[in-house]
Amino acid sequence: MSQTIPLVDLKAQYAAIRPEIDAAIQRVIDTTSFIMGPDVRTFEAAFANYCGVEQCVGVSSGTAALELALRAFGVGAGHVVITVAHTFIATAEAISAVGAKPVFVDIDPATYTLDPARLAAAITPATRAIIPVHIYGQTADMTRINQLAKAHQLVVIEDAAQAHGATWQGQLAGNLADAGCFSFYPGKNLGAYGDAGALTTNAVPVAEQVRSLRNHGRRSKYLHDQKGFGERLDTLQAAILGAKLPHLAAWTTARRHLAARYQMLLADCELVLPAVAPEANPAWHLFVIRTARRDELLDYLKQAGVEAGVHYPVPLHLQPAYADLGYLQGALPVTELVADTCLSLPLYPEMTEAQQDRVVALVKAFLEQSS
Ligand SMILES: *Cc1c(COP(=O)(O)O)cnc(C)c1O
Repeated sequence: MSQTIPLVDLKAQYAAIRPEIDAAIQRVIDTTSFIMGPDVRTFEAAFANYCGVEQCVGVSSGTAALELALRAFGVGAGHVVITVAHTFIATAEAISAVGAKPVFVDIDPATYTLDPARLAAAITPATRAIIPVHIYGQTADMTRINQLAKAHQLVVIEDAAQAHGATWQGQLAGNLADAGCFSFYPGKNLGAYGDAGALTTNAVPVAEQVRSLRNHGRRSKYLHDQKGFGERLDTLQAAILGAKLPHLAAWTTARRHLAARYQMLLADCELVLPAVAPEANPAWHLFVIRTARRDELLDYLKQAGVEAGVHYPVPLHLQPAYADLGYLQGALPVTELVADTCLSLPLYPEMTEAQQDRVVALVKAFLEQSS
């Protein structure tokens, strides 16, 4: 048996819901409402309802959601935004795009999310906002982050791009701070068939400002209140997301089942398994293990037809693109250790237990063979 196991299987998901997706796409084409059609508003209302927030604004990507959120809160030149370096580069790019400066704090060694213990020391008078990242689908410690933010009057914007359906103390990601930013990149827990994203918030003025900014600062077709951007949520993507959203809860349940199963099956192995904070119920965007022999294991799995991943091998503070910030190797020891040792095992709702068993058997064979 040597069938390939992908990191995520978007074909299997489409096969399971094909008639609903095809009907949604056809509906948009039949009505030719390609730009800001009714499906955009319908999906926004449904996703706001799902997250338990007042407002959802659909935008063109998760990156756009982060950038427009910062703009809506007035973050710009001369401001500092605190975030983590253990994330996809878009988190920091959004900060740079508005003219602010990212400052990276190290992550918690257990959960890999922003370490609240290191946050206070990083706050200066120039700090305007904090962007905690719910990495791999586990929410950051929002209790302590919000407490500190309140004490220093800072805006908190969740990077929830990997955390659709994740909770902290029973409350959903996207409803844990001043605003939440989601990506619907195809491989995310709720994925479009192209680029898409959304902002969630309970602040109506923030939502209104993002609605204006995403659509060229428009008041009406040819009257513009401010200089905005072309960052609307595409109607075809909104229709696809609207068809997929009713399945999200079941997909999250399936991810949680598989994650619990990995935890159980790999419990006795010489690996660092994911740790979950007692307040958190992750959405398991990724199941990330750690081993000093990461590169070897990655290669071993690849030879056997199992696609594992590394999220992310080069932390942002060591990226060439951010050399201008002047961080040196060793500046964020936990981040760097995790980047050197993390490995994402295949995990997607349609994954069968037989497939998972095969991944587990290979990981165990690797550990036994070479120890
Ligand atoms: C995917 C992702 C983004 C960016 O989302 P896009 O939709 O690709 O622009 C931002 N932050 C994190 C943590 C992500 O995983």
